[in-house]
Amino acid sequence: MCRFCKICLRAIELIAKFRLIMRCPYCNSSDSRVADSRPDTEDSVIRRRRVCNQCGAKFTTVERIQMRDLTVRKNSGKLEPFDREKLARSIKLACRNRDVSDDQIDKLVTSIHRRLETETADDVVPSSMVGQMVSDSLLNLDPIAFVRFVSVYRKFSKVSDFKKIIDQIPEDDEGAVVCPLPKTSLF
Ligand SMILES: [Zn+2]
Repeated sequence: MCRFCKICLRAIELIAKFRLIMRCPYCNSSDSRVADSRPDTEDSVIRRRRVCNQCGAKFTTVERIQMRDLTVRKNSGKLEPFDREKLARSIKLACRNRDVSDDQIDKLVTSIHRRLETETADDVVPSSMVGQMVSDSLLNLDPIAFVRFVSVYRKFSKVSDFKKIIDQIPEDDEGAVVCPLPKTSLF
């Protein structure tokens, strides 16, 4: 068979794409070696420190356990694959300049992901369920981040929207949240 015909080249291209080649983010070389592997604080995560044999750059890859392929149904009815990184970004934004570490955010995302995988029978989960889980967790972690997250998620447009949600947060005389919000339907 001809090694360079269009069909062959296309096949080679597809094989390269799906062979899970780890390319260097700096020079795009697929030639790298693992310098160090270590489990994360969570047992379900392994981080591998890699060194590019081409340019010498170092980068980290993260391997996680994923039990199911989840799809999120947005309020508009649109379906999209559950995206852990996207969820982490929205939580990070809400926690900006707050006393919440990346590690805490990572754990929060993992716990939400795991709950979605284990507590739902359907592979399609409504975005409202994800939003409710995030807001419940954030309220316990940092009430300011909670308000920020809810305001973005619910697309607040008026000052009274903030007032309504803040009035629902029960706090003691020192300003600490005394208990989680009752299971109101925020979303
Ligand atoms: Zn490289």
